[in-house]
Amino acid sequence: MSGPATGEPSFRDSVDMMFNRAASLMDLPPGMAEKIRVANSTYTVRFGVKLRGEIVTFTGYRSVHSEHAEPVKGGIRYSLAVEQNEVEALAALMTYKCALVEVPFGGSKGGLCINPGDWNEEELERITRRFAYELIKRDLIHPAQNVPAPDMGTGEREMAWIADAYKRVKTDDINARACVTGKPRNVGGIAGRTEATGRGVEYALQEFFRHPKDVKAANLSGTLDGKRVIVQGLGNVGYHAAKFLEEEDGCKITGIIERDGALVNEKGLHIESVKAHIAQHGGIRGFADAEYVADGSKVLENDCDILIPAALEGVINMSNAERVSAPLIIEAANGPITAGADEILRRKGCVIIPDMYANAGGVTVSYFEWVKNLSHIRFGRMQRRQEEGFHNLLVDEIETITGKSFSQGNRERILQGADELTLVRSGLDDTMRIAYQNMAEIWHERAHEGVDLRTAAFLISIGRVADSYKSLGL
Ligand code: NAD
Repeated sequence: MSGPATGEPSFRDSVDMMFNRAASLMDLPPGMAEKIRVANSTYTVRFGVKLRGEIVTFTGYRSVHSEHAEPVKGGIRYSLAVEQNEVEALAALMTYKCALVEVPFGGSKGGLCINPGDWNEEELERITRRFAYELIKRDLIHPAQNVPAPDMGTGEREMAWIADAYKRVKTDDINARACVTGKPRNVGGIAGRTEATGRGVEYALQEFFRHPKDVKAANLSGTLDGKRVIVQGLGNVGYHAAKFLEEEDGCKITGIIERDGALVNEKGLHIESVKAHIAQHGGIRGFADAEYVADGSKVLENDCDILIPAALEGVINMSNAERVSAPLIIEAANGPITAGADEILRRKGCVIIPDMYANAGGVTVSYFEWVKNLSHIRFGRMQRRQEEGFHNLLVDEIETITGKSFSQGNRERILQGADELTLVRSGLDDTMRIAYQNMAEIWHERAHEGVDLRTAAFLISIGRVADSYKSLGL
């Protein structure tokens, strides 16, 4: 997938090359681009856990890319592919992502080199707590300094263990719950966090299709309704994105690519049924209502309107980019397109909605969760009933004055005060809309310089981080 033999830049090189392309179009003070590009620090930990009668040694990382804003933020990934360069590339993307969507965090990322499938729940809990302890004692998990979240291979279960591990060490920290986001609701999580990244992908596509000029640039027309979508990875991000697009936007999911192959059905796949099949059989093979393709990655090249890589990095690379025919790709995963493939696809006229924007829904709602934890109150608790009372009064007055009644459905909708989930969705939607509009404006203004959506995203992020460093006196 990567390495010098194929001439393919590594994930980290890809991120740097894309960064450099944007930085070269900017008028930054000498040395500023280099200062922003490099990872500030990366901590490697090797720790032993006694499991199944022997001591097993694990290697984990926490990289801090930029502390221009604190706390720094970024997920913890569990995968055998985790290594320092990958973690540093992901930490850099977090810096740019947070700056782009105006979430006041610096960038960080963590990883543990482990196949979670090799261990049972009890063992994973012991491993996670031990890893967390190593990071906590160095303030690499801390509500004011470094706040992890879920990523590939981790979810709210692991976040609950991490939060508890922190609380046991820092018993007097009243803000302990804010040390990690993506927690279950009962230990300080927020409504809508689990699906936030997938929901953000949906909102990003909705916003894209509100811009006919941009839709035309991708050789598409109309709305999301009826669009044929292929998704790679039916995990947290891919499952939610595909489910919402199918159920709420009228898209047809014509292909699903998973570890063990791909499913294709031009009439559209039912996401909940495929998910249920995976839960029961451990993979997609044997799903009745579709053609099964053993070499799943070939399906990335199938004809479709929208391609959503939502699994891992480097899947669209110099070896297959020429054959990828999707006119619109939205990078739900981090780094799914290498820098080499990016160039090929752009030459072919493909529009790419870049990762640092497309999957920012997760960190955006994590930000809301962190704020909720620091304020120790759920969103909407104080004002919901007051709003309802006020709306009730207003509706009654309008009906009295006009002598007409609202329809029952509309009356109920108007009267309802916003609960936490409604507010989270509103905040996420607003964030995704504004960030897209900012990117699209620069894309169109500077298209003559070769600026695409990704370069536009970098221009915004680098500019904001540079401004922070300048204010700090650098
Ligand atoms: P996940 O572990 O929940 O899901 C990953 C899915 O990809 C799984 O279903 C897995 O079986 C599948 N997969 C693994 N290898 C594959 C392969 N070779 N081909 C096809 N499918 C394969 O992970 P996730 O949290 O959904 O993360 C996916 C991507 O999204 C990652 O790049 C991650 O960094 C990024 N991301 C996640 C979040 C989040 O909130 N979880 C936020 C931002 C970005």
